[in-house]
Amino acid sequence: MEKTSRRVFIEQVRLLYVNSMIPILVSVVVGAVLCWSQRIVVNKTVLIVWFTLFFTISVVRISLLFLFRKHSTSEYNDTKYWHNRFLIGTYSVAILWGSASFLLFPDSQPNQMVLFLIIIGMAGGAISSLCPSLPAVSGFLSLMLIPFMFKMMILSSDNSLLLGLLLLLFWVVTLNGAFKINTSIRDNIKLRLQSIEREKIFKANEERYRHIFSNAPLGIFQYDKDSVIVDCNDAFVNIIGSSWEMLVGLDMLARLKERGMLSAIKDSLTTGNGYFEGEYSSVTSKKTSSVRVFLKAIKSSDQTIIGGVGIVEDLTEKKLSEQQIQYHTTYDSLTGLPNRRLLLDHLTNEMSRASRKGHYGALLYIDLDNFKTINDSLGHSVGDELLKLVSDRITDNIRQEDSAARMGGDEFTIILTELDDIIELAAGKAREIAEEISYCISCPCKIERQEVYITPSIGVSLFPKPGIRSDDILKQADTAMYRAKAAGRNKIKFFLPSMQDAADERLRLYIDIRKALNKDELAIHFQPQVDISGGIVGAEALLRWHHPKRGLILPGAFLSIAEETGIMWDIGRWVLRSACQHIKIWIDAGLLGDFHTISINISSIEFAAPDFVNTVISILEETGARPEHLGIELTESSFISPGGDIVNKIKILQELGVKFSVDDFGTGYSSLSYLKSLPLNTLKIDRSFVNDIKDASHDVVLVDTIIMMAHNLGLEIIAEGVETEQELLYLNTRGCTIYQGYYFSKPVTVATFTKMLEAGNSKLAGT
Ligand code: C2E
Ligand code: MG
Ligand code: MG
Repeated sequence: MEKTSRRVFIEQVRLLYVNSMIPILVSVVVGAVLCWSQRIVVNKTVLIVWFTLFFTISVVRISLLFLFRKHSTSEYNDTKYWHNRFLIGTYSVAILWGSASFLLFPDSQPNQMVLFLIIIGMAGGAISSLCPSLPAVSGFLSLMLIPFMFKMMILSSDNSLLLGLLLLLFWVVTLNGAFKINTSIRDNIKLRLQSIEREKIFKANEERYRHIFSNAPLGIFQYDKDSVIVDCNDAFVNIIGSSWEMLVGLDMLARLKERGMLSAIKDSLTTGNGYFEGEYSSVTSKKTSSVRVFLKAIKSSDQTIIGGVGIVEDLTEKKLSEQQIQYHTTYDSLTGLPNRRLLLDHLTNEMSRASRKGHYGALLYIDLDNFKTINDSLGHSVGDELLKLVSDRITDNIRQEDSAARMGGDEFTIILTELDDIIELAAGKAREIAEEISYCISCPCKIERQEVYITPSIGVSLFPKPGIRSDDILKQADTAMYRAKAAGRNKIKFFLPSMQDAADERLRLYIDIRKALNKDELAIHFQPQVDISGGIVGAEALLRWHHPKRGLILPGAFLSIAEETGIMWDIGRWVLRSACQHIKIWIDAGLLGDFHTISINISSIEFAAPDFVNTVISILEETGARPEHLGIELTESSFISPGGDIVNKIKILQELGVKFSVDDFGTGYSSLSYLKSLPLNTLKIDRSFVNDIKDASHDVVLVDTIIMMAHNLGLEIIAEGVETEQELLYLNTRGCTIYQGYYFSKPVTVATFTKMLEAGNSKLAGT
C-alpha cells in the first residue's frame, strides 16, 4: 500500500474513534428507552439479557475510545489493529440491533413502527459517525437492517411487506450514500494531508531561505521599485556598518551620494541588471568599505519590475592583503625601505624625467665593509640593528627629493635627483652627498651595549646616459662600489667605462674560483722573515692561484671573491693544512729550529667561525706539525668586538704554542684598546708606513710610535715590505729587529724556501 493511502487510512480510523463517543452514548440511551417501553409486551428476562449485552458492548466500545485516545498511533499496523477492534464492537452492536427486531418486538405488536423509526435513526446516525470506514458503515447497516427487513418480509400483512421493501430500498440508498460519503471523506483527508505536507515544505523552504539569507557570507539587500530597502541580512548591515532599523526603509535614490552606486541601482530597475565596484562610503554610518555589488531586478509573473535584489561583496580584507603582498614584494621588511624592484621602478622614472628636463642625477651603491664579520661575531640581532641604524642614517641625511632602498644583505642604494644640468657639477654634488653619507654611516654607535664601527664603500653612477637602462645604471654603480672596496674599502668611486671590463673579469673569476681548489690550481709561496743579517727566523705563507688561462693570480685579486662565494673557509683550511704539512716535512728534515715560525693569514670570516679553534687543533694533530712553529696573522677587522670569544680562541691556541700577530697594523679603524686586552705576540707594521720612511714624512713618526708602543706592550715587531737598505737601517736604529720584504726576498716557492732553510739565510738562496 502506498504511503498516502496508509496515511489516509490512519486518519480514517482516527476519525472513527473521534466521532463515535456521542453516537454510542445516544444508542445506549435509545436502547434503554426501548427496553423500558417494551417491558410490558416482552419477556423481562429477554429484555434484561438484551440490554445487559448491549450495555456491556457499549461500555467496551467507550473504553476502546479512551484507550485509543491514550495510545493514539501513527503506525499503520497498529492502526489496522485498532480498526479491527472497532469493527468487532460495531458489528456486535449492529447484530444486537438486528436481533431486536425479533426479540424486542412481538409480531403482532403495533409498535413495529417505533422500531422502524429507531432503526432508521440509528442507521442515519451510523452514517455520520461510521462513514470514515466503509467496512464499519456497510457492516453496521447490513447487520442491523437485513434481519429487520427479513422479519418484515416474512410477516404476512401487506403493510409489513411494503415496509420490508422500503427498508431494502433504504438499505441500498444508505449504503450508496455511505459509500459516497466515505469516498469524499477519503478525498478530503487526502487533500488535507497534501496541504499539511505542502505547508510543511513551504515552511521548511522559507526557513531554509531565511537561513541562507541571514547567514550568507555576502551582504544581501532587497529593495522595491522605488529603490527603498525592504530587507537586508546581517552581512549587509556589517559591511555598511549601520543597523537593520536604519537601513530598512531607506530610500536609496534620495539618500545615496555615491554616483556609481546610484546609477547601478537605476540600471537594475530599468535594464534588469546593475553593477558597482569601488570604495563606498555609507550614508548612515559614514564607514568606507571597498565593495563589489551585483544588482538584479525582481519581476512579477507578468514581467514587470517590482523591485531588486543586491549582493554585496566586502573587498576590504582582500584589498588590504593585496596591499600587504604588494608592500612585501616592493619593500624590505627589516628597514621598511623600498627593495630592489621598487628601486628599479623609481630609477626608471627618474631617468626618463632627467632626460626630459635635461639634468643629471646619480645612483649611489653602498656596501658596508666587513659587515659579515660583525654579523658573525656579534650575532644576527646586532647585525639587524646595525642595518636598521644605517638605514635610518641614510634616510635622515638625504634630501627630500632623493630616495633610498635596500638591495638585500648589507647593500643600500640612493637615487639622487636633479643634481645639476652640467655633468661635472652633478658629479661634484654627488661626491659631496656620498661623502656626507659615508661620514654619517661611519660614526661609531652602540648596539646592545657593544661599540660598533662600520664603514661604507660607495659606488656612484651618473644618469641619464644615452641608450643605458636603469638596470645598467645599477650594475655600473655596483661595479664602481667593487672598485671602492678593492681600493681598500671606505672609499667612494665613480663608474668609469673601463670598470666594466674589470667587473666582467671579476665575474669570470667568480665562476673559476669555485673549481680552483679541486683542480689543484692553488699553491702557497713562502716569504722569509729575517733578522738584520738576513738569517731566517720564519716565513709568511702566501696564497697563489695558478689560473690555467690567466697565469699567476695574487690573493688581492681573488680573496674577496672567495669570501663572497663562501669558498673562503675551504681555501683557508687548505692553506692551513699545506702550511702544517710543510712544517712537518721541515721539522723531520731538521730544518726548523725552535725560533722558526711559519705564519699563515687568517681572514676575519675564518676566525669568526665557531669551529675555528677545533679545526686548527685537528689539522695540527692530523699533520703532526708542532704548534710552536705555527703563527697566525689576523687583521684588525677580526678584533671588532674584543669580547671573551676572541680572547678565548686566541688563548686556547696560544697555550698550545701557536703565536698570534696583528697584520697590516695601523690601517684598520678599530679602537686600539684591543692591543691591551688581547694576548697577542707580534705586531706587523704595514708596508705603507715602511715604504715612506725615505721621505721622512709623518709616517716616520708613526713607525716610531708603533715600534715604541709594541715595546711597551711587550710585543715583538716585524716590519713588512722592507725594500731598501735605507728602510732597513732606519728600522734597525729604532729597535725593530725582524724584517720581511723584497729587500731580502720576494715570496718564493716551497722548493726555493726549503733551500733557504737549508742555507739558513734568505740572501744565500740567490733570489
Ligand atoms: P699580507 O698578509 O700583508 O702579506 C704581505 C703582502 O705584501 C704579500 O702580498 C707580499 O707579497 C707583499 N710584500 C711583501 N714584501 C713586499 C715588498 O717589499 N714590497 C711589496 N710591494 N710587497 C711586498 P700578497 O702575497 O699579494 O698578499 C696580499 C694579501 O693577501 C696578504 O697581505 C694577506 O692579507 C692576503 N693573503 C695572502 N695569502 C692569504 C691566505 O692564505 N689567506 C688569507 N686569508 N689571506 C691571504
Ligand atoms: Mg699577512
Ligand atoms: Mg701585511
